[in-house]
Amino acid sequence: VPRVEKHQFQAETQQLLHIVAKSLYSDKEIFIRELISNANDALEKLRYVQLSAGGEQVGDDKREIYLYVDDINKTITIKDTGIGMTKKEAIDNLGTIARSGSKLFIEELKKDKTNTDDGKIIGQFGVGFYSAFMVSNSVEVVTRSYKKDEPGYRWTSDGSGSYEIETLLDDVERGTSIRCHLRDDCAEFSKEETVKQIVKKYSNFVSAPIYINDVRVNNLRALWMEDAKSIKEDEHTEFYRFVSGQYDKPRYTLQYKIDVPINLRALIYIPQYKPNIFDVTQESDVGVALYSRKVLIQPKANQLLPRWLRFVKGVVDSEDIPLNLSRELLQDSNLIRKIRLLLSQRIIRFLQEQSKKDKAKYQEFYEDYKLFFKEGIVRTADQGEKEDIAKLLRFDSSREEQGNLISLEEYIDRMVPEQKHIYYLAGPSRELCENSPYYEAIRQKGYEVLFVYESHDEVLLMQLAEFDKKKLKSVESELETDTKKDDTILEGDARSLSQDEANQLKQWILKQFGDKIKNVKINTKLDQHPCIITTNEMGAVRHFLKTNLLQRN
Ligand code: ADP
Ligand code: MG
Repeated sequence: VPRVEKHQFQAETQQLLHIVAKSLYSDKEIFIRELISNANDALEKLRYVQLSAGGEQVGDDKREIYLYVDDINKTITIKDTGIGMTKKEAIDNLGTIARSGSKLFIEELKKDKTNTDDGKIIGQFGVGFYSAFMVSNSVEVVTRSYKKDEPGYRWTSDGSGSYEIETLLDDVERGTSIRCHLRDDCAEFSKEETVKQIVKKYSNFVSAPIYINDVRVNNLRALWMEDAKSIKEDEHTEFYRFVSGQYDKPRYTLQYKIDVPINLRALIYIPQYKPNIFDVTQESDVGVALYSRKVLIQPKANQLLPRWLRFVKGVVDSEDIPLNLSRELLQDSNLIRKIRLLLSQRIIRFLQEQSKKDKAKYQEFYEDYKLFFKEGIVRTADQGEKEDIAKLLRFDSSREEQGNLISLEEYIDRMVPEQKHIYYLAGPSRELCENSPYYEAIRQKGYEVLFVYESHDEVLLMQLAEFDKKKLKSVESELETDTKKDDTILEGDARSLSQDEANQLKQWILKQFGDKIKNVKINTKLDQHPCIITTNEMGAVRHFLKTNLLQRN
C-alpha cells in the first residue's frame, strides 16, 4: 500500500464544493464557526464513547479546542482533542460533501434507547467543513482516531478536483487539526484580534473551552439552555449586558422552553432602561439573537419577533434551524414564522402575568413602553393580533382615581348588565373629560368610561375597533346616534322649555347661524350643560383647538 494516495472527489461533490465555496454562506468569517462546531462535535462524540466504552481504553478525557493563527505564513489552525478519524472516516466524511458523519453518529446514538442526550452535536448537513475552501488555497487535516492502534493521517486538498491522503509514521495526538492556508484576500483570518472577535461573536457559548494561541476566549455560560432556578440574578445581569450591549439591568426576565411543536429555548429580557422618543421612532433592529445549539446564526434576528417587540433583548435557540440557513432563507421560512408567533404570544402572556403579580411595577413599565404596544396594534391588519396586544393596554377610568390604570379585560368584567359596548372619551385632561357634556350623558346610564388624553389614542382605539366581541365606542359618537331619536320634550318636566318654546328657539338658532351649521336638535339628556356643539370629526377639531390654544399661550 502506498503511503500517499490520491483520490478524486465524486462528481456531485465537486459541483457542490463549488457552490459552497462561492455562495452558500453570506459571510466568509463563518468558516471559523463551522470548524469550531465540528471540533466541538468531535469532543462531544468522544464524551459519548468514553461514557459507553465500558472499560475500553480511549485515552484521556481532555476535551479542548485550540486555535493557532500565524499572520506571517497566513494560516489558521483549528485543533481539537476529540474523537478523530480513521482513514475510512476521513475519506467518507471529508471526501463526500453533504454526507454528515455527525448525523450518522446521532442516528447510532438514537438506537440506544437509554440515551436521550443527543442534543449537543451540532453538525447534520455535511457542508460546514467545505466552508474552509471559501478562504483557503489549500486545507490540510491531520487526524488520529481514538480507536486503538490507529495511525494518524494527513488529508490535503485545494478544493478543486482531488484530495490526497497520507498515512503518517510518526506519533500523532488523538483528535483533529485543520490548517487553512489562507488566500491573500483572506489573510485577515490569520490575525489574532480579528479571529478573537469572530470566535466571541459566534462561538462564545460553545461548551468546550476555546483557546487562541493558548489564551482562553470563550467564558460565558449559555444561560438559555440551563435550568431557570440555577441562574443567579447577577449572572442574568452579566448575560443581559453581553446580549444587549447596554449597561443597565433587566427589568423583567422570561425563560421559555418548549419541545413541541418545535424545539425552542429562549431567554428574553426587558431592559430597565426607559426608551426615549428616538428609540421609539427609529427603525432599529430587534434585540434578539438567533442560535442553533449554542452557535450563533444571526445576531439581530429581525424575522424572529414582530417589529413592535424590538425593545426586548435576548437569545432564541432552536435545534430545528439548520446552521447554514442564509438570511434570505430565514426571511420566508415557515419555521421562523412559527417561532415568531409562539414567542410574541408568550411574551404578551408573560407581561399579563407580571401585571397581576405586581401592578405598580407593570404600570411603570407600561408608562415607559406603551408607545410600542400602540404601534403594534396600529401596524398589524390582523384583528386577533391587535386584540392580543391590546391586552397590555391600560387606561385611566371614570371609576378610578386618576393614574390608577385598568385593562380592557377589567373594564369588561365590571360592565353593567345591559351595557353592550366599551366607552371611551378623548380629551386634553382628566378634568375636562369629567366636565364634558358627553361624559355627563353616558354617566347617567351608570357606564364606566375610559379617558384617553393623547391625540393618537383616538386613532388607536378606532383602529382597534373591537375587543373581546365588544365595540369600542367614543361617547361622542354614541351621543350623536342617541340624539337622532330626540327633538321631543318630555311632558311635565318643569325645568324644561315647553315643546313650543323649544321649537321657536330652534328656528331662531337656525336663522341666526344660517349655513354655518348643519342642524339643530333638541336634547333633554343634559343636566349640567345647556347645549353641546358636535361635529362629524371631533378628533380633528380637538387637534385644531389644541394646536391653536398652544400657539396663543
Ligand atoms: P456536519 O458537521 O454537518 O456533519 P461538516 O461538513 O461540517 O458536516 O463535516 C463533515 C463530517 O466530517 C462530520 O460529520 C464529521 O464526521 C467529520 N469531521 C469534520 N470535522 C471533524 C473533526 N474536527 N473531528 C472529527 N470529525 C470531523
Ligand atoms: Mg459541521
